[in-house]
Amino acid sequence: MRTHGRRSLWLEQALAAEDPDAGSRLAGGAQTDVCIVGGGFTGLWTALELKARAPGTDVTVVEADICGAGASGRNGGFALTWWAHFEHLLALCGPERALELAGRAERAVRGIGEFCQQRGIADAFSLDGWVWAATNPAQVGSWERTVRLLDRLGASPYRQLGHDELVAMTGSAQHLAGLFEPVSASVQPARLARELARAVREAGVHVYERSQARAIEHGPRAKVVLDSGSIDAEQVLLATNAWAAALPEIGAGLVVVASDVIATAAAPERLERAGVKPGVCISDGRRLVNYYHATAEGRVIFGKGGGTLAYGQRITAGFDHPGRREAGIRSQLLRTYPALWDLPIEASWSGPIDYSLSGLPFFVRLRDAPSVLACAGFSGDGVGPSRLAGEILAQMLAEGGDAGLPAALRTVPRRWLPPEPIRYVGGRAVRGAVARKEHSEDLGHRPRTVDRLVAGMDPTGYAYKPKGRDRDPAGRAGDRDPAARAG
Ligand SMILES: Cc1cc2nc3c(=O)[nH]c(=O)nc-3n(C[C@H](O)[C@H](O)[C@H](O)COP(=O)(O)OP(=O)(O)OC[C@H]3O[C@@H](n4cnc5c(N)ncnc54)[C@H](O)[C@@H]3O)c2cc1C
Repeated sequence: MRTHGRRSLWLEQALAAEDPDAGSRLAGGAQTDVCIVGGGFTGLWTALELKARAPGTDVTVVEADICGAGASGRNGGFALTWWAHFEHLLALCGPERALELAGRAERAVRGIGEFCQQRGIADAFSLDGWVWAATNPAQVGSWERTVRLLDRLGASPYRQLGHDELVAMTGSAQHLAGLFEPVSASVQPARLARELARAVREAGVHVYERSQARAIEHGPRAKVVLDSGSIDAEQVLLATNAWAAALPEIGAGLVVVASDVIATAAAPERLERAGVKPGVCISDGRRLVNYYHATAEGRVIFGKGGGTLAYGQRITAGFDHPGRREAGIRSQLLRTYPALWDLPIEASWSGPIDYSLSGLPFFVRLRDAPSVLACAGFSGDGVGPSRLAGEILAQMLAEGGDAGLPAALRTVPRRWLPPEPIRYVGGRAVRGAVARKEHSEDLGHRPRTVDRLVAGMDPTGYAYKPKGRDRDPAGRAGDRDPAARAG
């Protein structure tokens, strides 16, 4: 893996307040109880939880770049719950467990807020809620199935917004209809990740940055091989997000696609005049999701899914350099906020998303190496849920069991996909069809039949039906696309 070519605006801001040489590298050999590979939210929350749960456990984190350099420091800054993924939870876990897990994911968002408060970075977290909006007529009501299912089970995390309230809340008449979910937050994700790394160190965890794991040798104990040494561990956690896709066993359940983000210059008065208030996070209902919010600093952060596709599950330079999509994303920003036509774009960045075939992350012990646990598949909505994943993984590592997780979440979701290069070429064709379909819908035209048909072949949008022992007896099959609502 190469180190990242380009930092996000978030990470640049967070690093400006730090000593650039603070992180240490491992030289030589070391021993530990649990070695966590990957210093993003998943790895860091797990390390912190594990120390809280089993303080005597020796824990080591190794990060190829610096903590927060991956998706955790590059995302759109939405900390969402799992209510928008409720259909997938229901399909995989059944009603009781789905409600329980969605409730825990909601508490995880609040938990991030408490962490920020305790660590003196309260201004990096803002519980202003999330709007699931329609920005063209075809998207209106795209949430109805989810709302109906929740209603039937007596859960009501959303409030339907009247049109005037929606426009006032979002600052744009482009929003035709929408739901509001109050328990969702915006974060400055890189400040959160960097503070988390500090908290982890203070809890006694050894953190080695610029230390890429090259291989994991496994036997009764596991050995994580780095360029400059190795770490002998009783257990290993692979918390490498989309980078885990390079491992065939994990990659079988993932499709890796970039998401791209742009940030305008800070212009608080301009935003105020245009009626764009900082705070609330907004996602629209398209498959190549638009996600955006205004920050307290007075910038609009605007992201879009469906960027570079990974060839052979490898994350290449294309995932670090978003320039190609900047103009297209800006035109979506201007469609939403035309009054901001002359605001310059000051930063743009990109990063890989670990779309899982089930729409939800999975927590698995490797088949031939049970001392190695892996977690991936956040599907572009990992900022909030990785806090919950940290609790689950810490429990699995401390107790050695399955943390009571439903079987379907402990299994890599599978579906036949063609080999390369057909997979890549097919993936591009599907993405092109989705983009054309959504463009037609923006213009109020009926999409071409061929585009609708090809768009329907999106492998992360298929009817995921866990089979046999992987399926919870109380569950029901999902039949709707597991699109991310943020990344
Ligand atoms: C552009 C973009 C926008 C997004 N927007 C949102 C959003 O608004 N809301 C939301 O909820 N989610 C969003 N996401 C997804 C979200 O950021 C992630 O799901 C979340 O941060 C998960 O964190 P992680 O720790 O699993 O992964 P990461 O933060 O990617 O951490 C994995 C780490 O592993 C390291 N690594 C990889 N290979 C090795 C190796 N061999 N050795 C050592 N270290 C290694 C990487 O450098 C990386 O730091 C977005 C993602 C991207 C890319």
